[in-house]
Amino acid sequence: MAVATFDYIIVGAGSAGCVLANRLTQNPRISVLLVEAGGSDRHPYIAAPAGFLKTFADPRFNWCFTTEPGAAVGNRAIHFPRGKVLGGSSAINGHLYVRGQSRDYDTWAQLGNRGWSYEEVLPYFRKSEDRSTGADRFHGSDGPQHVSDIHERHPICEAFIAGAEEIGVPRNDDYNGSSQEGVGYYQRTIKNGRRVSAAHGFLRPIMRRPNLRVVTNALTQRLTLDGSRVTGIEYRRRGELISARSGREVILSAGAIGSPHLLQVSGIGAPDLLREIGVEVRHALPGVGEGLQDHYAVRVAHRVTQPITLNERARGTRLYWEIAKWLATGRGLIAFSPAHVAAFVRSHAGLELPDLQFVFTPASYSVGVVGQLQPFPGMTNGVWQMRPESKGFVRARTADSGDAPAIQPNYLSAAADQRAIVDGLRWCRRFLATDALRPYRGPETLPGTQVATDEELLDYGRQHGATVYHAVSTCRMGQDSLAVVCADLKVHGIAGLRVVDASVMPTMPSANTNAATLMIAEKASDLIAGKSP
Ligand SMILES: Cc1cc2nc3c(=O)[nH]c(=O)nc-3n(C[C@H](O)[C@H](O)[C@H](O)COP(=O)(O)OP(=O)(O)OC[C@H]3O[C@@H](n4cnc5c(N)ncnc54)[C@H](O)[C@@H]3O)c2cc1C
Repeated sequence: MAVATFDYIIVGAGSAGCVLANRLTQNPRISVLLVEAGGSDRHPYIAAPAGFLKTFADPRFNWCFTTEPGAAVGNRAIHFPRGKVLGGSSAINGHLYVRGQSRDYDTWAQLGNRGWSYEEVLPYFRKSEDRSTGADRFHGSDGPQHVSDIHERHPICEAFIAGAEEIGVPRNDDYNGSSQEGVGYYQRTIKNGRRVSAAHGFLRPIMRRPNLRVVTNALTQRLTLDGSRVTGIEYRRRGELISARSGREVILSAGAIGSPHLLQVSGIGAPDLLREIGVEVRHALPGVGEGLQDHYAVRVAHRVTQPITLNERARGTRLYWEIAKWLATGRGLIAFSPAHVAAFVRSHAGLELPDLQFVFTPASYSVGVVGQLQPFPGMTNGVWQMRPESKGFVRARTADSGDAPAIQPNYLSAAADQRAIVDGLRWCRRFLATDALRPYRGPETLPGTQVATDEELLDYGRQHGATVYHAVSTCRMGQDSLAVVCADLKVHGIAGLRVVDASVMPTMPSANTNAATLMIAEKASDLIAGKSP
């Protein structure tokens, strides 16, 4: 059978892959094949923002990985979701739209990645965005990614914000604007009560372009190489192994787990690892899969003295009423993202910029049961350190891309991260102890007031923390010996191959990672087309 040839083959229809498919096929002379391991995203659990709690561990839409046990987190193996569906992780994420601090991107440039400073990437954040409140210096209003404000201000959230101001945290209604610091509501990738994933915003409107072919339920097995040039891919679909050729480039957008994994099983990576899994070394690149970073969150929860939290609205006949309301109006409980209020603070006054991010919700979750709300009124304040120092890896265990790789984030292995978790838990308590919250505040349920010293707080953090799902930096951009791609996202030492997704981030941004991934793909599209913003 003749092998089909496309100018570009994009592996992975996640946040980055959907942006690339859209932008590259704007030129009708360019042909693109987009290959996705998962299937259709047409499902109410994906459309409904509250469906997050369902897709979180649903293998129909999720790779449902597990981390390697971590010595600093009680030797626990932690559930590690990643999207496996059109839209990738943007189809199962928590909808929070957070870009980070201008310093994050200036640091990327300062590390030698020319073109990635804040002023140079801001046009790409703006280009992707359709901000419901309109355009300004920081926001765009005619991009495919809709970003809206919360549709209902819960009285407990209002009290949380008033309380934060009481303890000196300034109100900030746009943490994606001139300054991140302060407290306010999260901006969300939701429109009229429905999720706007990258597939929804970027891919679905252009699916019928004649120069784009989208193949779902197709697991890319490996890259094909001719010497040091990538010539295409092999993917498996319905038991059949299919080859496709790239006339110009293969673009890996398989995410911070999938992209390094595919490089390794294709013979591009650390030679010792490749030999261990029985793969011929095609190109030695020791940094592939190394340097994994992620956010690690812990939480403080309280009972609430009035039956007005989301816990009550999500039970019995009220839940049916909420579903009906959502179907009719796109509002109510089902239209909420899992976090309502954002706070960005400096753990110590001496710091120049915020280092802690908070997520507050007028709801509480059962311990050890994924996504289950508690049967009594509750509220939760979660926290993570925005720029962790702990680093880990993603390493293939076998030569088959269908076998899950070893994922070791090494959470809390750095002393600075341990310190930040203790500071963060103390800050959670400060936020929850304000006068403004007094009418609602019941007893602390997590960790419980008996957990008081630094050692006890750290131990609680080790035993009960979890991923915030922000894996990055496993195919890091840079010029050093462990860098995988250069500033134009081409893989060092290999022709015809780029990586464009969260894996290329040189450092963790002070943010949830979807907005930065969309920006990276917008900029990559211009780099590939030889255009400027
Ligand atoms: C549960 C969860 C909640 C999150 N919440 C937020 C949030 O609220 N805000 C935020 O900013 N960020 C959030 N994130 C993170 C954010 O969504 C990701 O950083 C972002 O989507 C990463 O985009 P990506 O393109 O790098 O990878 P992905 O979007 O993960 O896309 C990779 C795609 O490649 C496909 N793929 C992988 N391997 C192969 C293969 N071998 N063959 C074919 N296809 C393959 C995958 O199936 C997937 O569709 C969350 C993530 C998760 C998982």
